[in-house]
Amino acid sequence: MASVAALRALRKRISPSFASRIIAFTSDSRSISTLVLAEHEGGAIKPQSVSAVKAAKSLSNDNPISLLLAGSGSALHEAAANAASCDLSVSEVLVADSDEFSHPLAEPWAKLIHLVQQKGGYSHVITASGSFGKNILPRAAALLDVSPITDVIEISDPHLFVRPIYAGNALCTVRYTGAGPCLLTVRSTSFPVSSILADSKSNDAPITQVDLSTFGEDSVGKSRYVKHTSQDTERPDLGNARVVVTGGRALKSAENFKMIEKLAEKLGAAVGATRAAVDAGYVPNELQVGQTGKIVAPELYMAFGVSGAIQHLAGMRDSKVIVAVNKDAEAPIFQVADYGLVGDIFEVIPELLEKIPEKK
Ligand SMILES: Cc1cc2nc3c(=O)[nH]c(=O)nc-3n(C[C@H](O)[C@H](O)[C@H](O)COP(=O)(O)OP(=O)(O)OC[C@H]3O[C@@H](n4cnc5c(N)ncnc54)[C@H](O)[C@@H]3O)c2cc1C
Repeated sequence: MASVAALRALRKRISPSFASRIIAFTSDSRSISTLVLAEHEGGAIKPQSVSAVKAAKSLSNDNPISLLLAGSGSALHEAAANAASCDLSVSEVLVADSDEFSHPLAEPWAKLIHLVQQKGGYSHVITASGSFGKNILPRAAALLDVSPITDVIEISDPHLFVRPIYAGNALCTVRYTGAGPCLLTVRSTSFPVSSILADSKSNDAPITQVDLSTFGEDSVGKSRYVKHTSQDTERPDLGNARVVVTGGRALKSAENFKMIEKLAEKLGAAVGATRAAVDAGYVPNELQVGQTGKIVAPELYMAFGVSGAIQHLAGMRDSKVIVAVNKDAEAPIFQVADYGLVGDIFEVIPELLEKIPEKK
């Protein structure tokens, strides 16, 4: 990096307006350092957190990235080792090992971010825009007295971001002007990674324990952990699946919805649902795709009996190929579909099930 004296000398030889841009650029990029709050499960960092690292990389070329993992037990340390080699740009992995972090409760996690940020003086704190990040980051922002920027889909410069508004019907460019650290949640579909260890290296980043001696005993918040339920582990994760098969209200019952599940099984796909299908009790709400559900961008998205309301499109319109089956030729889903079939799902799905071979 150029020294201040060298920059001053350079400034004398070029036009004042160009010089001020150079100074602005260098001071901006020099001060960048990022803390990425990572999620982990079963001893591995989750793909959406690797996407958050990818987003952090696009802030600046000169950007030390620290990954923060919290939890307890051996799975945490396995995940830390995995995180240390998940991307060449990770310069250190910080591990907070305490029973306080055994469950993803927002209060202790937000307090942890506050503690780590204060110690490390990071210019940016990033996490994936899932239910975990959406729960924790705004609280951390409140503790740090800054305003978070959520659902970022593009990073133009360290302080300029693009995010969707009006259910994805408009894009808003936001400049962060706050004095404190810039807190972001990023959509992992906008920062895709091919596989968890795609950028793995032989030399792992150093792993450091977070000093929790000042964390305090008063961190028990208002929320309480009750239990954890998760979807069928045989199926791919909805947020990262290559193929998603979604059913809408037209399925009419939980029993009929099993056709969608069977089709997904044959295709090795994740199952998605509209809010109408979730509200009707056909499937749990963790399968909801849309503005108030999961955001997905698979290679293939198949929608059966889905009208294509804007709130649903907000969660799947970035899919590479969209296939829709609906008996109404005027259904809005056909406006975004690459392949559309006007037909009855109770005829089409059984036919597909019959013709598609069992997955080996
Ligand atoms: C604030 C807010 C947030 C929301 N968030 C979400 C969200 O995250 N995700 C979401 O999905 N929705 C969301 N919604 C709801 C959304 O507006 C729609 O009501 C919902 O997406 C409709 O679901 P659907 O397409 O299954 O049902 P419907 O709109 O009832 O459509 C059913 C479709 O099935 C077709 N059909 C019926 N029978 C058959 C058949 N036998 N064969 C073929 N086609 C058939 C019909 O022609 C129709 O197009 C939200 C709404 C609000 C107000």
